[in-house]
Amino acid sequence: MAQEDVFKKLVAHCKEYGYVFPSSEIYDGLSAVYDYGQYGVELKNNIKKYWWDSMVLLNENIVGLDSAIFMHPTIWKASGHVDAFNDPLIDNKDSKKRYRADVLIEEHLAKFEDKINKEIEKAREKFGAAFDEKKFRETNPRVLANQAKMDELNARFSKAMNATDLAELRQIIIDHEIVCPVSGTRNWTEVRQFNLMFATEMGSTAEGANKIYLRPETAQGIFVNFLNVQKTGRMKIPFGIAQIGKAFRNEIVARQFIFRMREFEQMEMQFFVQPGSELDWFRHWKEVRMKWHQALGFGAENYRFHDHTKLAHYANAATDIEYKFPFGFKEVEGIHSRTDFDLKQHQQYSGKKMQYFDPEKGESYVPFVIETSIGVDRMFLQVISAAYQEEELKKEDGSTDTRVVMRLPSFLAPVKLAVMPLIKKDGLPELAENIVKDLKFEFNCQYDDKDSIGRRYRRQDAIGTPYCITIDHQTIEDNTVTIRYRDSMEQERVQTKQLKDIIAGKVNISSLLKKL
Ligand code: ATP
Repeated sequence: MAQEDVFKKLVAHCKEYGYVFPSSEIYDGLSAVYDYGQYGVELKNNIKKYWWDSMVLLNENIVGLDSAIFMHPTIWKASGHVDAFNDPLIDNKDSKKRYRADVLIEEHLAKFEDKINKEIEKAREKFGAAFDEKKFRETNPRVLANQAKMDELNARFSKAMNATDLAELRQIIIDHEIVCPVSGTRNWTEVRQFNLMFATEMGSTAEGANKIYLRPETAQGIFVNFLNVQKTGRMKIPFGIAQIGKAFRNEIVARQFIFRMREFEQMEMQFFVQPGSELDWFRHWKEVRMKWHQALGFGAENYRFHDHTKLAHYANAATDIEYKFPFGFKEVEGIHSRTDFDLKQHQQYSGKKMQYFDPEKGESYVPFVIETSIGVDRMFLQVISAAYQEEELKKEDGSTDTRVVMRLPSFLAPVKLAVMPLIKKDGLPELAENIVKDLKFEFNCQYDDKDSIGRRYRRQDAIGTPYCITIDHQTIEDNTVTIRYRDSMEQERVQTKQLKDIIAGKVNISSLLKKL
């Protein structure tokens, strides 16, 4: 099945099974804003717990924070967001559709990469085990030609972005004959800058009101509290502050479901280090964060680093962790070496010292910062894209059937176990209810007695429930139940009293944290 079709099915699945709904749906929705349903919110909370525990529990020198969304407006002046948090936008005059000029060019670049990958796949099929990809890349004329075009465009694009040369960005679009995906024409406007911050007013009267912003990132709340936390927590450098919270960006083009939203949630950790040691810490956090992603078991080949050639004005190194979504490799997390830019700016704008006294060195300095920044929603999309599968099953009579299954890691699954009486009589529902009553203190359980047992299994597969417990007549006799595993669909007969231990061993987040 084409990847776009898989993605469409995933979006529909999320709605049908209570994961994600379009916001304000009865009013036809609100563009790029979504609500999380009964299962979505559980998965989201579990993702946040995995991140939070990996930062705050596993590292004695990282503590949490929950700063307000509204902040003093000068913070955004100091951080550079008022003047420079812009995206270059361009309109197509025929379709009247608006695009990010940089994204149009990036998508064009990806086409060269696709062409190269197709050549490689064709050759791999042709030559089989003897295929040497490295040699093929170095010698095949079509691959070389595409690579050369890609490198040339990349260099020109990076230069234009670094210089914020809007006319040159437009020229690249013209020269490469990039067309509007809707109208198919090249009738483009000029490229303009567009600030992504949402603004509102604080105060009850128009005259007395202050313009304030909805934060576009959570990081600044950490910077302005850096000394509060350092002093009250008696933190010694190196140390980190972690925060999970909402952020808002007036994205020009919000597409691809929850990949790019106007209201979203971030999990950010700012790690304060001695000046001069930042690039070592940058490498450290790159490794730690990649391990965190890969520990979920979705396949190391589906992740890669994308080191930035265009560095933001505050950074001296930056990389993205990208995941292979159904629509290609895209950023899930950014890791940035932000130098001492933010603290120095706040020092200057607030007139307050943002220095740390280093008892070992006997001197004060403004620390350097390594940031790890990941979107909860984008991580959610990564997890469900990896977990969603449609499987062909062979039935006993030789015919085939399909099942939709969310192969979520057990500790992330919204519902850990479903308890089902085989039939709705003979005291089986009561036995099933008693199991739920006993286990609900440990795990998110669901009682289900509607439809045939086969349909109930499928319903739980679609939600991603890793374990189904079935109560039958034998349970009355010997207190055993059947446990059915989502992934293998195998069934096992176990003692009721063993259930707690069996399931705890599999859904407990600590076994995952120990892998990190
Ligand atoms: P992009 O290049 O995709 O716009 P960015 O580089 O601006 O992202 P950062 O400012 O580094 O993103 O934000 C850190 C993380 O926050 C991103 O890696 C992403 O996971 C998440 N994020 C950023 N913007 C959005 C958005 N509009 N919707 C959902 N998640 C987002």
